Amino acid sequence: MRSGYNYPCGRASRARLPTAPQGARRLKRPNMYFSDPFTAMQAAVDIVAGSPHPTNKVAATLFGRNVGLSRTNYWPEPILTAFGKEQDIGNSSGTVHAETACIIQAMHATEGSSICVTDPFCPNCAKNIAEAGIKKIYIDHKGFEKDFFARRGGHFQTMSMQVCEKAGVSVYELWRKDERLVPIFEAPANFVPDEDSPVYKEPIQSPTEAVFHDILAAGFKNHQKRKFAIALVSDAHDKYFALTVRAHAVTGFTMEDPEDIDMIQRHEEKYSFFQEPINRLLMYMARHGLTLLPDYLFCSQVPTSREQVNLIGAGIKRVTVGDPAKARDITAIEAMWQLSGAGILNYT
Ligand SMILES: [Zn+2]
Repeated sequence: MRSGYNYPCGRASRARLPTAPQGARRLKRPNMYFSDPFTAMQAAVDIVAGSPHPTNKVAATLFGRNVGLSRTNYWPEPILTAFGKEQDIGNSSGTVHAETACIIQAMHATEGSSICVTDPFCPNCAKNIAEAGIKKIYIDHKGFEKDFFARRGGHFQTMSMQVCEKAGVSVYELWRKDERLVPIFEAPANFVPDEDSPVYKEPIQSPTEAVFHDILAAGFKNHQKRKFAIALVSDAHDKYFALTVRAHAVTGFTMEDPEDIDMIQRHEEKYSFFQEPINRLLMYMARHGLTLLPDYLFCSQVPTSREQVNLIGAGIKRVTVGDPAKARDITAIEAMWQLSGAGILNYT
Protein backbone atom coordinates (compact mmCIF):
# COMPACT_ATOMS: atom_id res chain seq x y z
CA MET A 1 0.00 0.00 0.00
CA ARG A 2 1.30 3.48 -0.76
CA SER A 3 1.88 5.66 2.23
CA GLY A 4 1.80 9.04 0.53
CA TYR A 5 0.70 10.91 -2.54
CA ASN A 6 2.28 13.58 -4.67
CA TYR A 7 0.34 16.53 -3.41
CA PRO A 8 0.01 19.41 -3.32
CA CYS A 9 2.77 20.06 -5.86
CA GLY A 10 6.42 20.01 -6.63
CA ARG A 11 7.81 16.49 -6.69
CA ALA A 12 5.49 14.97 -9.24
CA SER A 13 6.31 14.98 -12.91
CA ARG A 14 4.49 17.67 -14.78
CA ALA A 15 1.94 16.64 -17.32
CA ARG A 16 0.35 18.71 -20.03
CA LEU A 17 -2.57 17.89 -22.20
CA PRO A 18 -1.35 17.21 -25.73
CA THR A 19 -1.94 20.19 -27.96
CA ALA A 20 -2.73 19.98 -31.65
CA PRO A 21 0.18 20.86 -33.96
CA GLN A 22 -0.10 24.24 -35.62
CA GLY A 23 -2.35 24.24 -38.61
CA ALA A 24 -4.00 20.96 -37.63
CA ARG A 25 -7.76 20.92 -37.85
CA ARG A 26 -9.54 20.62 -34.54
CA LEU A 27 -11.56 17.47 -34.21
CA LYS A 28 -15.25 18.19 -34.07
CA ARG A 29 -16.79 16.75 -30.94
CA PRO A 30 -20.48 17.61 -31.00
CA ASN A 31 -21.20 15.71 -27.79
CA MET A 32 -18.51 17.30 -25.68
CA TYR A 33 -19.85 19.87 -23.27
CA PHE A 34 -16.37 20.89 -22.18
CA SER A 35 -13.38 20.35 -24.42
CA ASP A 36 -10.83 20.07 -21.60
CA PRO A 37 -10.57 20.00 -17.80
CA PHE A 38 -9.43 23.63 -17.62
CA THR A 39 -12.66 25.04 -19.04
CA ALA A 40 -14.64 22.53 -16.96
CA MET A 41 -12.82 23.65 -13.81
CA GLN A 42 -13.39 27.29 -14.70
CA ALA A 43 -17.13 26.58 -14.87
CA ALA A 44 -16.98 25.20 -11.32
CA VAL A 45 -14.89 28.12 -10.07
CA ASP A 46 -17.37 30.54 -11.67
CA ILE A 47 -20.23 29.27 -9.48
CA VAL A 48 -18.44 28.37 -6.25
CA ALA A 49 -19.11 31.73 -4.57
CA GLY A 50 -22.82 31.02 -5.06
CA SER A 51 -22.68 28.00 -2.75
CA PRO A 52 -25.14 28.56 0.10
CA HIS A 53 -22.69 27.06 2.59
CA PRO A 54 -21.37 29.84 4.84
CA THR A 55 -17.84 28.44 5.25
CA ASN A 56 -17.13 25.40 3.06
CA LYS A 57 -18.01 26.53 -0.45
CA VAL A 58 -17.34 23.76 -2.98
CA ALA A 59 -18.26 23.38 -6.66
CA ALA A 60 -17.81 20.63 -9.23
CA THR A 61 -18.26 20.12 -12.98
CA LEU A 62 -19.05 16.67 -14.36
CA PHE A 63 -18.19 16.38 -18.03
CA GLY A 64 -17.88 13.76 -20.74
CA ARG A 65 -19.40 12.53 -23.95
CA ASN A 66 -22.96 12.57 -22.63
CA VAL A 67 -22.87 14.83 -19.60
CA GLY A 68 -21.91 18.36 -18.70
CA LEU A 69 -23.15 20.11 -15.58
CA SER A 70 -21.82 22.14 -12.67
CA ARG A 71 -23.15 22.17 -9.12
CA THR A 72 -22.20 23.64 -5.75
CA ASN A 73 -22.79 21.89 -2.45
CA TYR A 74 -26.27 22.92 -1.33
CA TRP A 75 -29.26 22.19 0.86
CA PRO A 76 -32.14 20.61 -1.08
CA GLU A 77 -35.07 23.04 -0.92
CA PRO A 78 -37.39 20.82 1.20
CA ILE A 79 -34.64 20.32 3.82
CA LEU A 80 -33.75 24.01 3.87
CA THR A 81 -37.40 25.01 4.33
CA ALA A 82 -38.15 22.49 7.09
CA PHE A 83 -34.85 22.38 9.00
CA GLY A 84 -32.71 25.34 7.94
CA LYS A 85 -28.94 25.16 7.62
CA GLU A 86 -28.03 24.42 11.22
CA GLN A 87 -29.95 21.23 11.91
CA ASP A 88 -28.50 17.84 11.01
CA ILE A 89 -30.61 15.10 9.44
CA GLY A 90 -29.82 12.17 11.72
CA ASN A 91 -26.01 12.21 11.83
CA SER A 92 -25.65 13.79 8.40
CA SER A 93 -25.53 17.42 7.44
CA GLY A 94 -28.52 18.41 5.32
CA THR A 95 -26.26 19.31 2.39
CA VAL A 96 -25.68 17.36 -0.78
CA HIS A 97 -22.00 17.60 -1.74
CA ALA A 98 -21.18 19.22 -5.10
CA GLU A 99 -19.63 16.08 -6.64
CA THR A 100 -22.55 13.89 -5.60
CA ALA A 101 -25.08 16.51 -6.78
CA CYS A 102 -23.50 16.41 -10.26
CA ILE A 103 -23.77 12.62 -10.37
CA ILE A 104 -27.34 12.19 -9.16
CA GLN A 105 -28.58 15.03 -11.36
CA ALA A 106 -26.61 14.11 -14.51
CA MET A 107 -29.66 12.71 -16.39
CA HIS A 108 -27.36 10.76 -18.75
CA ALA A 109 -24.86 7.95 -18.23
CA THR A 110 -21.84 9.07 -16.21
CA GLU A 111 -19.75 6.03 -17.16
CA GLY A 112 -16.30 7.08 -18.40
CA SER A 113 -16.80 10.76 -17.61
CA SER A 114 -14.50 13.12 -15.67
CA ILE A 115 -15.12 15.52 -12.81
CA CYS A 116 -13.48 18.79 -11.75
CA VAL A 117 -13.70 19.82 -8.10
CA THR A 118 -12.62 23.05 -6.46
CA ASP A 119 -11.50 21.20 -3.31
CA PRO A 120 -10.09 17.79 -2.36
CA PHE A 121 -13.05 15.42 -2.13
CA CYS A 122 -14.33 13.57 0.93
CA PRO A 123 -14.36 9.73 1.16
CA ASN A 124 -18.12 9.56 0.57
CA CYS A 125 -17.85 11.46 -2.69
CA ALA A 126 -14.81 9.34 -3.64
CA LYS A 127 -16.97 6.22 -3.27
CA ASN A 128 -19.81 7.77 -5.25
CA ILE A 129 -17.45 8.88 -8.04
CA ALA A 130 -15.93 5.38 -8.22
CA GLU A 131 -19.32 3.65 -8.33
CA ALA A 132 -20.63 6.10 -10.94
CA GLY A 133 -17.86 4.91 -13.30
CA ILE A 134 -16.10 8.30 -13.43
CA LYS A 135 -12.48 7.78 -14.48
CA LYS A 136 -10.71 11.08 -13.85
CA ILE A 137 -10.86 13.65 -11.08
CA TYR A 138 -9.24 17.07 -11.32
CA ILE A 139 -8.75 19.14 -8.17
CA ASP A 140 -8.07 22.87 -8.35
CA HIS A 141 -4.64 23.52 -6.81
CA LYS A 142 -6.08 26.32 -4.69
CA GLY A 143 -8.23 23.74 -2.91
CA PHE A 144 -5.13 22.36 -1.22
CA GLU A 145 -4.33 25.73 0.32
CA LYS A 146 -7.61 26.29 2.12
CA ASP A 147 -8.34 25.95 5.84
CA PHE A 148 -10.92 23.32 5.03
CA PHE A 149 -8.25 21.07 3.55
CA ALA A 150 -5.92 21.67 6.48
CA ARG A 151 -8.68 20.41 8.77
CA ARG A 152 -9.91 17.52 6.62
CA GLY A 153 -6.83 16.57 4.60
CA GLY A 154 -6.25 13.40 6.61
CA HIS A 155 -9.35 11.74 5.22
CA PHE A 156 -8.33 12.74 1.71
CA GLN A 157 -4.98 11.04 2.01
CA THR A 158 -5.97 7.98 4.02
CA MET A 159 -9.38 7.23 2.53
CA SER A 160 -10.43 9.23 -0.55
CA MET A 161 -7.22 8.46 -2.45
CA GLN A 162 -7.31 4.79 -1.50
CA VAL A 163 -10.83 4.52 -2.91
CA CYS A 164 -9.55 6.01 -6.18
CA GLU A 165 -6.53 3.70 -6.35
CA LYS A 166 -8.65 0.61 -5.79
CA ALA A 167 -11.31 1.67 -8.27
CA GLY A 168 -8.84 2.84 -10.93
CA VAL A 169 -9.83 6.51 -10.87
CA SER A 170 -6.99 8.87 -11.85
CA VAL A 171 -6.60 12.06 -9.81
CA TYR A 172 -4.85 15.24 -10.94
CA GLU A 173 -4.06 18.57 -9.39
CA LEU A 174 -4.94 21.33 -11.85
CA TRP A 175 -3.56 24.85 -12.40
CA ARG A 176 -5.96 26.88 -14.50
CA LYS A 177 -3.69 29.82 -15.18
CA ASP A 178 -0.91 27.93 -16.93
CA GLU A 179 -3.08 24.94 -17.93
CA ARG A 180 -0.94 22.47 -16.04
CA LEU A 181 -1.81 19.07 -14.57
CA VAL A 182 0.14 17.18 -11.93
CA PRO A 183 -0.85 13.56 -11.42
CA ILE A 184 -1.56 12.58 -7.83
CA PHE A 185 -2.46 9.06 -8.90
CA GLU A 186 -2.73 7.61 -12.40
CA ALA A 187 -4.64 4.37 -12.89
CA PRO A 188 -3.03 1.80 -15.21
CA ALA A 189 -4.54 1.73 -18.70
CA ASN A 190 -7.53 -0.60 -19.05
CA PHE A 191 -7.57 -1.25 -15.31
CA VAL A 192 -10.55 -3.34 -14.20
CA PRO A 193 -11.38 -3.12 -10.48
CA ASP A 194 -12.36 -6.15 -8.39
CA GLU A 195 -16.13 -6.51 -8.12
CA ASP A 196 -17.30 -9.10 -5.58
CA SER A 197 -20.95 -8.22 -5.54
CA PRO A 198 -22.06 -6.51 -8.75
CA VAL A 199 -25.47 -4.92 -9.07
CA TYR A 200 -27.88 -7.52 -10.43
CA LYS A 201 -29.87 -6.18 -13.38
CA GLU A 202 -32.68 -8.14 -14.99
CA PRO A 203 -35.09 -7.08 -17.73
CA ILE A 204 -38.79 -7.00 -16.87
CA GLN A 205 -41.83 -6.73 -19.13
CA SER A 206 -43.59 -3.92 -17.31
CA PRO A 207 -43.33 -2.21 -13.93
CA THR A 208 -46.30 -3.42 -11.89
CA GLU A 209 -46.94 -4.09 -8.19
CA ALA A 210 -47.00 -7.83 -8.93
CA VAL A 211 -43.58 -7.74 -10.63
CA PHE A 212 -42.18 -5.60 -7.80
CA HIS A 213 -43.41 -8.10 -5.21
CA ASP A 214 -41.88 -11.03 -7.12
CA ILE A 215 -38.51 -9.26 -7.25
CA LEU A 216 -38.77 -8.43 -3.53
CA ALA A 217 -39.56 -12.06 -2.68
CA ALA A 218 -36.49 -13.18 -4.63
CA GLY A 219 -34.42 -10.53 -2.83
CA PHE A 220 -35.46 -11.76 0.61
CA LYS A 221 -34.74 -15.35 -0.42
CA ASN A 222 -31.29 -14.61 -1.88
CA HIS A 223 -30.02 -12.06 0.60
CA GLN A 224 -31.77 -13.10 3.81
CA LYS A 225 -30.28 -11.04 6.61
CA ARG A 226 -27.95 -8.95 4.45
CA LYS A 227 -28.98 -5.36 3.83
CA PHE A 228 -30.16 -4.95 0.24
CA ALA A 229 -32.10 -2.57 -1.99
CA ILE A 230 -34.24 -3.01 -5.08
CA ALA A 231 -35.43 -0.57 -7.73
CA LEU A 232 -37.45 -0.76 -10.90
CA VAL A 233 -35.95 1.53 -13.53
CA SER A 234 -36.22 2.48 -17.19
CA ASP A 235 -33.44 3.22 -19.67
CA ALA A 236 -33.23 5.80 -22.46
CA HIS A 237 -35.09 3.41 -24.80
CA ASP A 238 -37.99 2.93 -22.35
CA LYS A 239 -36.92 -0.60 -21.54
CA TYR A 240 -37.63 -1.71 -17.97
CA PHE A 241 -35.27 -3.41 -15.52
CA ALA A 242 -35.18 -4.56 -11.92
CA LEU A 243 -31.98 -3.76 -10.00
CA THR A 244 -30.96 -5.62 -6.86
CA VAL A 245 -27.94 -4.50 -4.85
CA ARG A 246 -26.37 -5.45 -1.54
CA ALA A 247 -24.38 -3.35 0.87
CA HIS A 248 -20.76 -3.98 -0.01
CA ALA A 249 -17.32 -2.45 0.13
CA VAL A 250 -16.89 0.11 -2.62
CA THR A 251 -15.88 -1.12 -6.07
CA GLY A 252 -12.26 -2.31 -6.20
CA PHE A 253 -12.19 -3.75 -2.68
CA THR A 254 -12.55 -7.50 -2.45
CA MET A 255 -13.39 -9.75 0.47
CA GLU A 256 -10.90 -12.25 -1.04
CA ASP A 257 -7.91 -10.13 -0.01
CA PRO A 258 -6.91 -10.01 3.69
CA GLU A 259 -5.35 -6.56 3.23
CA ASP A 260 -8.61 -5.26 1.77
CA ILE A 261 -10.61 -6.80 4.62
CA ASP A 262 -8.28 -5.08 7.05
CA MET A 263 -8.87 -1.73 5.37
CA ILE A 264 -12.62 -2.28 5.14
CA GLN A 265 -12.85 -2.92 8.86
CA ARG A 266 -11.07 0.34 9.59
CA HIS A 267 -13.40 3.24 10.25
CA GLU A 268 -12.42 6.87 10.52
CA GLU A 269 -15.05 8.86 12.38
CA LYS A 270 -18.12 8.72 10.15
CA TYR A 271 -16.32 7.34 7.08
CA SER A 272 -15.83 3.76 5.93
CA PHE A 273 -14.96 1.85 2.77
CA PHE A 274 -18.45 0.35 2.72
CA GLN A 275 -21.02 1.54 0.24
CA GLU A 276 -24.61 1.38 1.45
CA PRO A 277 -27.14 -0.21 -0.94
CA ILE A 278 -29.25 2.89 -1.65
CA ASN A 279 -26.12 4.88 -2.49
CA ARG A 280 -24.90 2.02 -4.68
CA LEU A 281 -28.25 2.02 -6.47
CA LEU A 282 -28.22 5.79 -7.03
CA MET A 283 -24.68 5.63 -8.44
CA TYR A 284 -25.41 2.61 -10.63
CA MET A 285 -28.47 4.36 -12.08
CA ALA A 286 -26.36 7.46 -12.81
CA ARG A 287 -23.56 5.37 -14.31
CA HIS A 288 -25.89 3.74 -16.83
CA GLY A 289 -28.36 6.58 -17.36
CA LEU A 290 -31.26 4.71 -15.71
CA THR A 291 -34.31 6.47 -14.27
CA LEU A 292 -36.12 5.29 -11.14
CA LEU A 293 -39.80 4.53 -11.65
CA PRO A 294 -41.55 6.41 -8.83
CA ASP A 295 -42.84 4.18 -6.01
CA TYR A 296 -40.61 1.25 -6.95
CA LEU A 297 -37.71 1.73 -4.56
CA PHE A 298 -37.14 -0.67 -1.68
CA CYS A 299 -34.56 -0.98 1.11
CA SER A 300 -34.56 -3.93 3.50
CA GLN A 301 -33.64 -1.59 6.38
CA VAL A 302 -33.89 2.13 7.05
CA PRO A 303 -31.31 3.83 4.78
CA THR A 304 -28.52 5.75 6.55
CA SER A 305 -28.95 9.48 7.23
CA ARG A 306 -26.60 10.34 4.34
CA GLU A 307 -28.50 8.05 1.95
CA GLN A 308 -31.78 9.70 2.90
CA VAL A 309 -30.35 13.18 2.20
CA ASN A 310 -28.98 11.94 -1.15
CA LEU A 311 -32.41 10.51 -2.07
CA ILE A 312 -33.91 13.96 -1.57
CA GLY A 313 -31.09 15.47 -3.65
CA ALA A 314 -32.02 13.00 -6.41
CA GLY A 315 -35.65 14.18 -6.27
CA ILE A 316 -36.97 10.89 -4.85
CA LYS A 317 -40.00 11.19 -2.57
CA ARG A 318 -40.86 7.67 -1.50
CA VAL A 319 -39.01 4.57 -0.32
CA THR A 320 -40.44 1.27 0.88
CA VAL A 321 -38.59 0.00 3.97
CA GLY A 322 -38.58 -3.72 4.81
CA ASP A 323 -37.98 -3.37 8.56
CA PRO A 324 -38.43 0.20 9.83
CA ALA A 325 -36.98 -0.78 13.23
CA LYS A 326 -33.69 -1.90 11.71
CA ALA A 327 -30.86 0.41 10.63
CA ARG A 328 -27.08 0.72 10.69
CA ASP A 329 -27.44 3.09 13.63
CA ILE A 330 -30.12 4.91 15.59
CA THR A 331 -29.45 8.20 13.79
CA ALA A 332 -30.84 6.69 10.56
CA ILE A 333 -34.15 6.09 12.33
CA GLU A 334 -34.06 9.61 13.75
CA ALA A 335 -33.52 10.93 10.20
CA MET A 336 -36.51 8.90 9.01
CA TRP A 337 -38.72 10.46 11.69
CA GLN A 338 -37.47 13.95 10.86
CA LEU A 339 -38.02 13.60 7.11
CA SER A 340 -41.32 11.73 7.29
CA GLY A 341 -42.60 14.16 9.95
CA ALA A 342 -41.86 17.08 7.63
CA GLY A 343 -43.53 15.26 4.72
CA ILE A 344 -40.30 15.34 2.69
CA LEU A 345 -39.76 11.61 2.22
CA ASN A 346 -42.49 8.99 2.52
CA TYR A 347 -41.59 5.62 4.03
CA THR A 348 -44.06 2.85 3.30
ZN1 LIG B 1 -18.07 14.93 -0.47
